[in-house]
Amino acid sequence: MSRSPIRQQFPILNQMMGSYPLCYLDNAATSQKPERVIQAMDDYYRRYNANVHRGSYQLSATATSAFEAVRRQLQQFIHAAHPQEVIFTRGTTEALNLLAYGLNKHIKPGDRILVDSTAHHANLVPWQQLALRSGAELIAIPLTDELRLDRQALRTLLQLPTRLVALNHVSNVLGTVNDIAALAQEIRAAGAICVVDGAQAIGHLPVDVQQLGCDFYAFSGHKMYGPTGVGVLWGRLPLLATLEPMLTGGEMIKTVSFTHTEFGELPFRLEAGTPPIAEVIGLGAAIDFLNSVDRNNAQQQEQQLLQQLQQQLAALPGITLYGAHADNRGAIAFNLAGEHHQDVGILLDQQSVAIRCGHHCAMPLMDAMGLKGCCRVSLGIYSNADDITRFIQALRTTITLLTGE
Ligand code: PMP
Repeated sequence: MSRSPIRQQFPILNQMMGSYPLCYLDNAATSQKPERVIQAMDDYYRRYNANVHRGSYQLSATATSAFEAVRRQLQQFIHAAHPQEVIFTRGTTEALNLLAYGLNKHIKPGDRILVDSTAHHANLVPWQQLALRSGAELIAIPLTDELRLDRQALRTLLQLPTRLVALNHVSNVLGTVNDIAALAQEIRAAGAICVVDGAQAIGHLPVDVQQLGCDFYAFSGHKMYGPTGVGVLWGRLPLLATLEPMLTGGEMIKTVSFTHTEFGELPFRLEAGTPPIAEVIGLGAAIDFLNSVDRNNAQQQEQQLLQQLQQQLAALPGITLYGAHADNRGAIAFNLAGEHHQDVGILLDQQSVAIRCGHHCAMPLMDAMGLKGCCRVSLGIYSNADDITRFIQALRTTITLLTGE
């Protein structure tokens, strides 16, 4: 496999899996980590491991400033207006749960919550639980025949008073992209809170939360070449300030007595307990990595690879693509006629090609497509033409083995 300057930074991609080099095409599940992320976390543990925000000694001050510097890096990365708008969580799932819990007081019986039909369970189950707790009504926003969000149907739904709309930025199954800037404008004009799950967008698209115009945006570090165990909830400051903390305890208080607790200021009031310090520092290194590459160029190349992959896949016998459009990002969903998706995945794995097969934590989407599951191939910043060739060859072999074609 050719080793581009970007690819060279990812030690895992050097690896042989049996007699083949690893062909990693499950980037929607998690991305690989560049050397500088691994080193930054190692360096923290070796040189300045200490708890943050509370030490009266030098080591803790060093850890705290490294930790808080990442908050400011993230602020710039997503163009947030203030560093306090960046809340550290353990990932997208925790960010969306924190939000759904935090909005308890805002949602009343009979309120309407609309959820994107492509939603990952992380952007559906927390809203479903909130609806159950509050007596609100949860409504699925329908899809068009092309498996895109049905804008007309959303407009009709927004004609009735609506409290909140939860959208996917990029679908983790199909790779379809929602035009958040346009949707958020309509949603907010209708008086609803607009929440966006950016887990699959953050590594593939430039994200400017002010330009997107939503109210909340959630993402995970591990989908943008950073470590697992860290993510972000971004929110507009006045709205964030009204959230009820999901976790209470240390770090998030101003004063505590046995009868009363006064919560502290943002961002700390939503970050109870010791945060994932090494992971935050690793995420900072991931941003350094992304800032060190020509992202526009990298994203364009990734986009071209995705389109080539769509075309080559569609030309194979018995393959059906789902929701494939030229403007999709990152992922392609497909099945092989008459064969179980898991069988395809296993045979590809035997040729050291890693893709994901299953329901992809999007069971309602699978239901809408009339499927039990599907295969998903997903790209990262280091994916190249060799990956596509390897994958297509391995899939041809798989098709021959399974169908005799
Ligand atoms: N939303 C989407 C669209 C995702 O793809 C994922 C991860 N597969 C999540 C949410 C959940 O992210 P995490 O597991 O990092 O919390």
